[in-house]
Amino acid sequence: MLGMSVSTGLSGPIYYAHQVPEHFHEHYILRGYRHPKSSVTQCLLSVFDPTNETLNIWTHFLPTWYFVYVVYHLWWSIDFTNDVYSWPLLSYLLVCCAFPLASAVAHLFNVMSDCARHVCFFLDYSALSLFSFGVALIYRAYCFPSHILSNTTGCTWFKDHYVNLAAITAILCTFISCETRFMKPSAARKAIRLGAFAIPYLFDSIPIFYRILFPDVNEWSAEYLHKRQFLFALVAAFLYASHLPERLLPGIFDIIGHSHQLFHVSSILAVMDQLQAVLLDFKERRSFVEPCWQSREFSNSLGYLLNIFVINSIIIMIFTIRLLYLKHKMKCT
Ligand SMILES: [Zn+2]
Repeated sequence: MLGMSVSTGLSGPIYYAHQVPEHFHEHYILRGYRHPKSSVTQCLLSVFDPTNETLNIWTHFLPTWYFVYVVYHLWWSIDFTNDVYSWPLLSYLLVCCAFPLASAVAHLFNVMSDCARHVCFFLDYSALSLFSFGVALIYRAYCFPSHILSNTTGCTWFKDHYVNLAAITAILCTFISCETRFMKPSAARKAIRLGAFAIPYLFDSIPIFYRILFPDVNEWSAEYLHKRQFLFALVAAFLYASHLPERLLPGIFDIIGHSHQLFHVSSILAVMDQLQAVLLDFKERRSFVEPCWQSREFSNSLGYLLNIFVINSIIIMIFTIRLLYLKHKMKCT
C-alpha cells in the first residue's frame, strides 16, 4: 500500500485512507493519515502537521496543563498533606491530569506500529477507567444526596457499597474496552466499547441524578454545574457514536472539525464543569458530609485509587502479552 502522498509535512508524507492499512482507517475520514510505521521523531513532529490526529492530540494535551494549573493553584489553599478531607479531591485531581495526558500520548504515538496502536489505546482506556473511579471517590466523599446520607431513604446499602461497586465497574470497563480491540470493526464493537465506558459513568452519576431529581432542602450552589456537565457528556457521547459531521460530508472535516475532536472538547468541558461543581460541594458541604464519612483512611481514597491503577496495569500487561502472542503466531503460520 502507500504510494503517492497527499502532501508532505514536518513529519514526512501525509496519506489518503486507501494508502494505509484498513485497521488504521477512521470512519468517513478520507485523508490526513500519517505513515503507519512512523518513528518517535516523526510522531513528535506530526503535532505541527495538518493530519487527522493533530487536533485530537492538542484537544487533550492543552487541557492536561489546565488541570495541572488547577492542582498547583489549589495546593496553596488546601492542606493536601495533612487534611484527610482533601484526599478524595486530590485523587480526583490526579486522574483529571492523567486521563487527557494518556489520551494525547495515545493519539500521538499510535502510528508507530500495529502493536503500538493497540497498546496506546489500552493505556487510553485504562486512564479513562481510572478517571471514572476518581469520580466515584469524590462523589461519595462530597456530593452524595442528603436524603441518602441521612438514611431517610433506607439506601444505606448503596451508600456503604457505592465505592466498591464503582471499583468493579471501572475494572470491567478496562477489561471490556481492551477486549474490543481484538474484535473486527463493526457497529457491535462500537456499541460494546461505548457501553464499557457508559456503565461506570452512569453508575457513578446515580447520586447526582438523584440530587437533580429529588432536590435537597438545602440549596447547594453546585446544582447548575452538575446539570450542565451532563449536557456536555451527552453531546460527547452523541458525537462519539454518530460520527457527525464527517458522516454527512466525508472529506470536509478530515483535519479540522471531525467528531473525535469535538468529542474531546465536549468531554473536557464536562470535566471542567464537574470539577467546579465538586469544588463547590467540597467547600460548602464539609460540615454536612464529614460526620458520615468513609474516606478518613488513606486506603479509602488515594490508596484505593492506587490499587485500581495496579489492577488496570496488570490487565494492560495481560492484553499486551496476548497481542504479542497473536502477532508471533501469525508470523509462524
Ligand atoms: Zn480520543
